[in-house]
Amino acid sequence: MSTIVFIDTRGEKLPKAAQEAVSYASQLAGGPVTAVTFGDAQGLEALGANGAGKVIVARGVKAVDGQQLTKLVCDVAAREGATTIVCVHDNTGKAVAPRVAARLKAGLVAGATGLPDASTGSAGQLFRRNVFSGKARAWVEVTSPVKVLSVMPNSIPITRGEGTAAVEEYSGDIGPARITVKELRKAGSGIPLPEAELVVSAGRGMKGPEHWASVEELARELGAATACSRPVADMHWRPHHEHVGQTGVAIRPNLYIAIGISGAIQHLAGVNQSKVICVINKDPEAPFFKAADYGIVGDAFEVLPKLIEAAKKLNAER
Ligand SMILES: Cc1cc2nc3c(=O)[nH]c(=O)nc-3n(C[C@H](O)[C@H](O)[C@H](O)COP(=O)(O)OP(=O)(O)OC[C@H]3O[C@@H](n4cnc5c(N)ncnc54)[C@H](O)[C@@H]3O)c2cc1C
Repeated sequence: MSTIVFIDTRGEKLPKAAQEAVSYASQLAGGPVTAVTFGDAQGLEALGANGAGKVIVARGVKAVDGQQLTKLVCDVAAREGATTIVCVHDNTGKAVAPRVAARLKAGLVAGATGLPDASTGSAGQLFRRNVFSGKARAWVEVTSPVKVLSVMPNSIPITRGEGTAAVEEYSGDIGPARITVKELRKAGSGIPLPEAELVVSAGRGMKGPEHWASVEELARELGAATACSRPVADMHWRPHHEHVGQTGVAIRPNLYIAIGISGAIQHLAGVNQSKVICVINKDPEAPFFKAADYGIVGDAFEVLPKLIEAAKKLNAER
């Protein structure tokens, strides 16, 4: 019985979601696990601190072909005799986890948000996941001998201990890629939204794209990423990759500042796991206040300049 964890390690530093998934897998296994990854990432030894005993890396493999990555994971699972395969519930993991489950005839828990819950009476088997846009929780029991889990980013704390992982190059054959990327355009240059610890987000209450300079300025002063509600992206006031919610990106930052956003259920579905929510809205009856830790009832065009001034003062004093 062993556990492997499939992670996407592209980027300048080890992604937070990858470290979370390794931490999760190693807690689940009760000891070191084997991590599987691909590409040219360096510094993979550091995953040892999160609980990886070994990292198997398929160098030269790009992330575009989910079928290739599936073959990689299934091959490593067979070599390691894995009975639990953990993935991240991100774009890469979502392309791979269901395929791996189908190939291995395994039960799949998509979007687990915690370790198996002993308090529900079936320790070791029941996995928690959010349903109905985060309004309810379901406990899912996996009855198959092999199980596949994809873990929601930002739902598992990173554990850090001592040690480094042994890094091995993958030597098997996962076949040729059947799709290739012809052109890649970066959507933004700031902090990637799913990785951000602080997020400044705004909605239709900002009246138009010409007023976003102050939202961006506050984000810059706080070192935060920017986000928006869906109508804002639909109206092309902001790029679509900033849209958070049920149909957009799901985030769980330490602080989510929502400016001129009503707090519709579909918006909350993507942000209600934030650790602290601060809402700025001129309507005291706005539903978002019910989900807020801090609320400012006021006009965004008066409140924002004051917040920017306060953030600048704080930065100057540091
Ligand atoms: C299937 C489906 C999926 C959806 N998915 C998403 C999703 O993923 N994400 C998402 O965001 N939405 C989603 N929606 C849309 C969602 O239902 C809401 O319509 C949307 O979130 C509202 O956006 P908003 O709060 O920016 O705008 P509005 O609802 O128009 O709210 C604007 C808010 O700004 C406040 N305001 C106005 N002026 C000011 C001011 N000067 N200062 C301060 N506050 C001010 C108002 O009081 C109001 O509360 C979805 C809808 C459907 C049907």
